[in-house]
Amino acid sequence: MIYALLYIMVGFLAMEVSGWFIHKYLMHGILWKIHKTHHQHSKGYFELNDVFSLIFGGIAITLIFLGLENFDYRFWMGMGISIYGMSYFFLHDVLIHRRLKFFGKPKNRFLSAIFKAHQAHHASRFRDGSVSFGLFFVPFKYFKKKRDE
Ligand SMILES: [Zn+2]
Ligand SMILES: [Zn+2]
Repeated sequence: MIYALLYIMVGFLAMEVSGWFIHKYLMHGILWKIHKTHHQHSKGYFELNDVFSLIFGGIAITLIFLGLENFDYRFWMGMGISIYGMSYFFLHDVLIHRRLKFFGKPKNRFLSAIFKAHQAHHASRFRDGSVSFGLFFVPFKYFKKKRDE
């Protein structure tokens, strides 16, 4: 099943890479009106920014359906995107933003690096001047020993 695994990884990586570009150049660009609901506290549980999750989820579901008949590459890429989406949800929405209160602050080195990098992203409430737009590709500096917190 190397074939399946390969395309799952392609789907996953494509999400992180295209997500970085979309986040940096579109969400912090012409789509800022939507994305700012994630940077500035909004009332209620949902934010307009959640439409991005729906769009990516829709792409994944479409690919899975298209590839379902022969379990071809589209099916596995759709699975990769779904796995990315679920990991993103647990890391970004649950662990970092605590939309569901499952976990405390992460102790694992990789998770706490992701945590710090994303907090650095949220240090700015505005369109310009943000850092670290990806989620899983954490810049190395966030792995270094605990800085003053
Ligand atoms: Zn942002
Ligand atoms: Zn966030």
